[in-house]
Amino acid sequence: MSNPSLLILAGDGIGPEVMAEVKRIITWYGDKRDMPFDISEDLVGGCAYDKHGTPLTDETMAKAQEVDAVLLGAVGGPKYDDLDFSVKPERGLLRLRKEMDLFSNLRPAQCFDALADFSSLKREIVAGLDIMIVRELTSGVYFGEPRGIHMEGNERVGINTQRYTESEIARVARSAFELARRRSNKVCSMEKANVMESGVLWRQVVTEIHEKEYADVQLSHMYADNGAMQLVRNPKQFDVIVTDNLFGDLLSDAAAMLTGSLGMLPSASLGLPMANGRPKALYEPVHGSAPDITGQGKANPIACILSFAMALRYSFDAGAEADRLEAAVEQVLADGARTADLLGPDGGSPISTTQMGDAILAALDASL
Ligand code: NAD
Repeated sequence: MSNPSLLILAGDGIGPEVMAEVKRIITWYGDKRDMPFDISEDLVGGCAYDKHGTPLTDETMAKAQEVDAVLLGAVGGPKYDDLDFSVKPERGLLRLRKEMDLFSNLRPAQCFDALADFSSLKREIVAGLDIMIVRELTSGVYFGEPRGIHMEGNERVGINTQRYTESEIARVARSAFELARRRSNKVCSMEKANVMESGVLWRQVVTEIHEKEYADVQLSHMYADNGAMQLVRNPKQFDVIVTDNLFGDLLSDAAAMLTGSLGMLPSASLGLPMANGRPKALYEPVHGSAPDITGQGKANPIACILSFAMALRYSFDAGAEADRLEAAVEQVLADGARTADLLGPDGGSPISTTQMGDAILAALDASL
């Protein structure tokens, strides 16, 4: 059997800096856990535009379709702000998501004990928090037709259309139920069935899939506005939340802030299973290219490292190894290791991106 394959697209800004630490961790798994990966690397975003005049070449796109998982750093930067929309760095990322049909976006909100005071909420509300928001990523109001701005009489009207097919709802619901089975077996589905027909259909389809295929999972429904309130009132009541593209966009950002720094947040975007049974998959930190700190050794690599932990869990069926990596991160934070973004108001002396990588590798060694 050949090794599992990874395509690394480090991208722009701090992308290559944080990805360098992930590469050391991948090497560690090859050396110390007998888990070698076949790695290829390529360009995405501004750096691809600089070299090829496009943020993602057809060749890179084809490679992404072939590998078992794609790891992405970040794209963008002020240098590219004035480019035409069609070649902006973000278009590279959107093309990957679209052509790989990555409809299920997983955003964990996990609060490490050592960072609980970072949240804008009280420690007791967020300490130990571990929830997962599953956002539908390829349909809904961001894609629905008709859309646009046109004249009606003598004033402009802006139009977007919320549209979901049954099969689009069913596949993301399945993805959430599958995930819940690996966690605490609880799904809360959020929509606005009280005021939107697409929400009524969403609730019906999620309920049908649940009854037919996942009756062992506990399912509840909540209106998304109440969901937003509950997320900041008592987030620990949730395990997996499944919701549409628009509500997921808002709810996952709100949930992200429960945990403190942007430098801590991983994500996964999954599609349908490939011939080998693994889902099409792209793993990336939630943060951007952070031009304000690029090249200074200040970037926190943890979001990108935890994205690789998600790859171990969701692409490579190595849940115990993902646990090991997450525990190593938790350990170094408990020991007081802090990049600059993790220093509280009381200050302290930050460690560099590489030193954070060193500390996590040492904690991995100690776990053996
Ligand atoms: P950003 O996430 O890059 O940065 C926001 C703030 O968080 C900055 O102060 C930054 O220094 C800090 N930060 C982010 N990641 C960090 C890390 N790992 N460690 C320490 N601090 C970190 O968002 P922005 O400034 O709005 O955008 C910058 C560029 O990134 C833009 O070109 C934007 O389009 C792009 N962007 C890309 C992605 C992506 O690649 N998925 C996501 C968001 C923004």
